[in-house]
Amino acid sequence: MNRFLPYLAFLLLATALTGVKPSGLTSSEATAAVSRFQEYLRIDTAQPSPDYVKAAAFITSQAEYIGLESQTLELVAGKPLVLVKWPGKNSALPSLLLNSHTDVVPSEPDKWDHHPFSASLDSSGRIYARGSQDMKCVGMQYLEAIHLLKKAGFTPDRDIYLTFVPDEEIGGNAGVGAFVKSEIFKKLNIGLVLDEGLASPGDEYRLFYGERSPWWTVIRSKGEPGHGAKLYDGSAMENLLKSIEVIKRFRTAQFDLVKAGVKAEGDVVSINFVYLKAGTPTPTGFVMNLQPSEAEVGLDIRVPPSADPEALERRIAEEWAPSSRNLTYEFKQKVPIFDIYGKPAVTVADSSNPWWNLLEEAVKKAGGKLGKPEIFPASTDARYYRELGIPAFGFSPMANTPILLHDHNEFLSKDEYLKGIEIYESIIKELASHNGDTIDEETKAEL
Ligand SMILES: [Zn+2]
Repeated sequence: MNRFLPYLAFLLLATALTGVKPSGLTSSEATAAVSRFQEYLRIDTAQPSPDYVKAAAFITSQAEYIGLESQTLELVAGKPLVLVKWPGKNSALPSLLLNSHTDVVPSEPDKWDHHPFSASLDSSGRIYARGSQDMKCVGMQYLEAIHLLKKAGFTPDRDIYLTFVPDEEIGGNAGVGAFVKSEIFKKLNIGLVLDEGLASPGDEYRLFYGERSPWWTVIRSKGEPGHGAKLYDGSAMENLLKSIEVIKRFRTAQFDLVKAGVKAEGDVVSINFVYLKAGTPTPTGFVMNLQPSEAEVGLDIRVPPSADPEALERRIAEEWAPSSRNLTYEFKQKVPIFDIYGKPAVTVADSSNPWWNLLEEAVKKAGGKLGKPEIFPASTDARYYRELGIPAFGFSPMANTPILLHDHNEFLSKDEYLKGIEIYESIIKELASHNGDTIDEETKAEL
């Protein structure tokens, strides 16, 4: 009997019990991959003054190390975007774009157990850093996965592009927003985009096929000023408070649908009051015996692709800011929920989309499982692509991980990070080697 058989049997049993595929990375490769991830995390790319130059230089050096061509585009001054290319055998096939943003949100270091740019690895294997989940992990995983595929002698059929983009955390106008308008972008012939998702506390990965559109709205109210002691109708504050009551009722009704499990968070209209402004200021506070003639409220409204935007705007105009009560409204930002073809900006996430089938199969092959496709509750760069009618999925392979993006003590476990590399290895292999002929023009238009 072969003396390795008992060991092999044990390994198979252990695999069957845990459901985890043994790592495809050798331990030295894993150690090196983790330290490269830490190196990227240590570059302070926090808004509002990210070190983009350092980040771009790092990505360029990583691309060079694994033998990929890259170029740094400065479509907006001071906002470098690194475009990396892995050429395929047939450039006529639609290409695959793997997008990640290099900036991160600010943090309050004194509220963290480890400094947010230390990328400390603790004894339980957690890597603490701003950007460890959102989304430097994904950017590095793309590169590491390609590194493994190249080492194994794999060549993609289609071209694969990677973009490391600035400014996602402040709206992306100078990042992907500028990129999709560039001549370079138009020549890439992109068939599918992968971008960020969210961590999942359970063992299924989350996948996003659309997102809610931000409608940042300001409602302003006017009314007669008057003595603070006088009771009268139609003051600016009273007019505004009546609206706030109506908006609150709508908010409660939407939230109740989520609480009752009838709808997912990404499928309702969310509204949050983000500021209130009124009063007549004094050097130490506000005048207390005067009812002001103006007041305003700021609302962060998020509209799902399934909503009727015209009906919602009518509601705002007629119920929340009626001119009959001296109210007006203004959108500070209003991202359309339809793409340029007039359809809801979502990517088909079922078996009628060949890309979807390949993606689902790839995750399964790597030992992972996808949860039910969702609408991303906030905004990502994927919206710029979906708006152009280009299919895009949001996916960050982080299972068994608390959602800590934008939170204190953001971390990702080393093992989950490494497993994500294998997941992407499988995804890139599957999506890259697909014969593009099966996605004909008609299907493409449907997606
Ligand atoms: Zn992000």
